[in-house]
Amino acid sequence: MQNILTKFAQAATRPMDYAKQWKRDTGGRVIGIFPMHFPAELAHAAGALPIVVQEDEEPITIGQSQVFSFYCGYNRSLIDQALRGEFDVLDAILFGDHCVQLLGTADVIRAHLPGKPILFNQLCSILDADWAMEETRATFRQLWLELETLTGTKIDEASVNASIRLFNRNRSLMRRIYDLRRAGETTLSARNMQHIVKSSMVMDKAQHTALLEELVTGLAQAAPKARSVRVFLSGHLCHAPKLSLLDLFEDSGCTVVDDDLYTGYRFIFADIDEAGTAIDGLASWYLTRSQKVPCPTRAVKGLDWEQYLLQAVAQSRAQGLIILMAKFCEPHMFFYPEIKEAFEKNGIPHLLVETEHEGVALESLKTRVDAFVELVGRRSSAEIASRAGATAV
Ligand code: SF4
Repeated sequence: MQNILTKFAQAATRPMDYAKQWKRDTGGRVIGIFPMHFPAELAHAAGALPIVVQEDEEPITIGQSQVFSFYCGYNRSLIDQALRGEFDVLDAILFGDHCVQLLGTADVIRAHLPGKPILFNQLCSILDADWAMEETRATFRQLWLELETLTGTKIDEASVNASIRLFNRNRSLMRRIYDLRRAGETTLSARNMQHIVKSSMVMDKAQHTALLEELVTGLAQAAPKARSVRVFLSGHLCHAPKLSLLDLFEDSGCTVVDDDLYTGYRFIFADIDEAGTAIDGLASWYLTRSQKVPCPTRAVKGLDWEQYLLQAVAQSRAQGLIILMAKFCEPHMFFYPEIKEAFEKNGIPHLLVETEHEGVALESLKTRVDAFVELVGRRSSAEIASRAGATAV
């Protein structure tokens, strides 16, 4: 099992190195995909390696002059990576427009990498609008054609269906690991969980799936970890939270039992319907995803992130919520007051942690997390005592 986790960790922490090696081995094309809404299945069906482009750990240097300092760390890192030549391995980049900052980043990358094919597609943001289904089908048809032109390969329906089946299998295996976590039946750390999901954004899907099959079998046989304070992690759109943060939560006595992070459950919870046409399956997948795990960059009438979170925290039997918010992430900042209000009203402890590409002061954060763990522990004990009192009466 450790061997598989090491392979996942390597791909997750050095995605561009993985992509270079894959290209050397196969001679195929690598297509960078920007988060969070484009299905990679189409690029895979074209024979390419689709990889979700990740923030890297390097400090922002030559990219600093090209980007506003009030852009989130993910955008600043992308621009810096582009200027450092990290994207040279990519044969094309598939951009979406899910937030204003990403639009600015697309322009900077276009200006600095004029020879790099950029497939820029706009997905409709009001998911339950009357026109949404037809517009989304049209967007994916256009992307399908663009990928055919880029790769010089006809992408047939059967190939897309095969990719959809493979990706669905991959997601379902990761969801199985989430089930084990919620049930407290795995020793996997939050760091390992991130590596598993993040590497699935990067690695050859068949290779990743074969390793996952083996891992899931091994995990189901592993001894469960001793319980500590059960927490749900929420937020951090587009890019992974730093591993040092996840370690700190666990060192302070938290067990992460569930999450809605993009490099987590948000990436894997929804499968594509295999029954109808591929375009219909892709369009429905996109339009219904936010109805299950709401995304603050999309709109669905009457659907609120905070209501989903209250329910998800209860279902996973988490005792508290830790919100990871990337600094200057406007879509997230917009929703936070409502999440805060809902959790306070329901008496569920939550902790807001603002993150930055440059890192956070771990010592002061540790004090806050320790206090949060103590609060959660006391509240849980008080609730158990009050329930016992009520039963006695
Ligand atoms: S993390 Fe937030 S601000 Fe940054 S690209 Fe994603 S949605 Fe936009």
